[in-house]
Amino acid sequence: MTFTTTCPACQTAVRLPWEYAGAEAECGRCGAVFDAHPHTNLTLPPAPPRRSRRRAAPPDGAPVVALVLGLFNLVLWACPFVGVITGILGLVFGHSGLQSPRRAWAVVGIVFSVVGLTFSLGWGALIAILMVREAQLQHAPNGNNPPFFQPK
Ligand SMILES: [Zn+2]
Repeated sequence: MTFTTTCPACQTAVRLPWEYAGAEAECGRCGAVFDAHPHTNLTLPPAPPRRSRRRAAPPDGAPVVALVLGLFNLVLWACPFVGVITGILGLVFGHSGLQSPRRAWAVVGIVFSVVGLTFSLGWGALIAILMVREAQLQHAPNGNNPPFFQPK
């Protein structure tokens, strides 16, 4: 048994077996891929209820990755290298995840990543400043501690 559907791109009527009702079909004329919904003015009996409806497009993993990386950032920002890397990755995945249905996850991931990245960079800068200060202090003539850096 077949039903008729119409290609939305070129308006060609396409006759398909009932198994294709609600599934993706490819137009034999223009190659467009579309959902094959049966026309309503059919004389054929309706298709038996499909137990498994057409599954949604496979979920894009990017928003989930962005969210996980964002959460990592909130924990790992104190490790400057790791925090910066996961922060940048979180932004990358978050950006690519903005087009997906899980956009909210991507947005949260981006926000977490930005926060973590800011902390990471700030923390890294603070450590750098403190290390330079420390090195300068230890170069002072009356410094008792052994030098942390080999003097150049
Ligand atoms: Zn077509």
